[in-house]
Amino acid sequence: MTNIQTKIRKVAIIGAGFVGTSYAYALLNQAIVNELVLIDLDEAKADGEARDLNHGLPFGEPMKVKTGGYEECHNADLVVITAGASQKPGETRLDLVAKNAKIFKGIVEQVMAADFQGIFLVATNPVDILTHVTKEVSGLPKNRVFGSGTSLDSARLQYLLSERLEVDSRDIHAYIIGEHGDSSLPVWSQARVGGVSLQSYTGITDIANDPDMIDRFEGARDAAYHIIDRKGATYYGIALGLLRITKAIFQNENAVLPLSVELDGEYGQQGIYIGVPAILNRQGIREVLELELSETEQQQFAQSAAIIQQMNETARKAIQ
Ligand code: NAD
Repeated sequence: MTNIQTKIRKVAIIGAGFVGTSYAYALLNQAIVNELVLIDLDEAKADGEARDLNHGLPFGEPMKVKTGGYEECHNADLVVITAGASQKPGETRLDLVAKNAKIFKGIVEQVMAADFQGIFLVATNPVDILTHVTKEVSGLPKNRVFGSGTSLDSARLQYLLSERLEVDSRDIHAYIIGEHGDSSLPVWSQARVGGVSLQSYTGITDIANDPDMIDRFEGARDAAYHIIDRKGATYYGIALGLLRITKAIFQNENAVLPLSVELDGEYGQQGIYIGVPAILNRQGIREVLELELSETEQQQFAQSAAIIQQMNETARKAIQ
């Protein structure tokens, strides 16, 4: 007998739609996890997706891909939730909050009934509210429950600034924080190119009011609307964002990523999930990083938090 360690690193994806399967495909191209389960209300769809992914295995990284029920979450290290209803014509955002909160209650209860011991990562919208629902229903500690938050929004801003500055997007540190939605804000006061402030690098004295910078932020904030108008949904960007988060967990990276995390006094907020940079490792969220915000940014952040608070209330009523 050889003494080879065969550690299972297992991810369960709940919701085998555009986002869930794009993330699954991204995982197939990386040797980070070796077991992947797709769970969906539409069992035939999940089965078809798993079959298709499996046929790529001879070209990809060794991995088991299958479908299953919630009992599969028993030994999963990470459960990623990308399931939910999307907004229907005539339906308000608040209707969607209530509808998805109910769906999440059902999902999270079933995951917990399987004696789940791992980490929850939520991507379904409205992500800050549904991450909060996940925390409330699961009763897990806050380090083990978080959402993709403003990771995609920040990546979009990095990309749009990288185009203008002709600097690799990975070397542009520019966060969008707050709600993953219309009330998000760019933290211009702390934006850096390498270690140089964006203001020094560009020579623009008032970045927050510079028309081109405003355009770029709005382009990042509203990107989903533009993409949905053209192709019906967005999924590649978020799939790679989820992959990045997964790597940070399994490789115990202590990486800094803007995620939807529960605040406990940081940024003057208590008990809400909202997008801010946090340090992420194998245990989940290690700590929240508190950016020094300008006065305007503080006000915008407080407004964004108030909007989330209101939606949390709608979700709470829907599931009580
Ligand atoms: P989709 O409609 O393609 O997939 C949703 C899947 O969820 C479907 O396969 C459906 O059968 C399944 N589902 C519905 N109810 C379920 C339940 N109770 N149990 C199990 N499965 C269930 O949608 P999509 O394009 O993949 O988007 C999924 C979510 O991701 C949406 O909420 C979308 O807004 C969100 N999203 C988030 C970000 C982000 O940055 N966080 C980016 C893009 C999309």
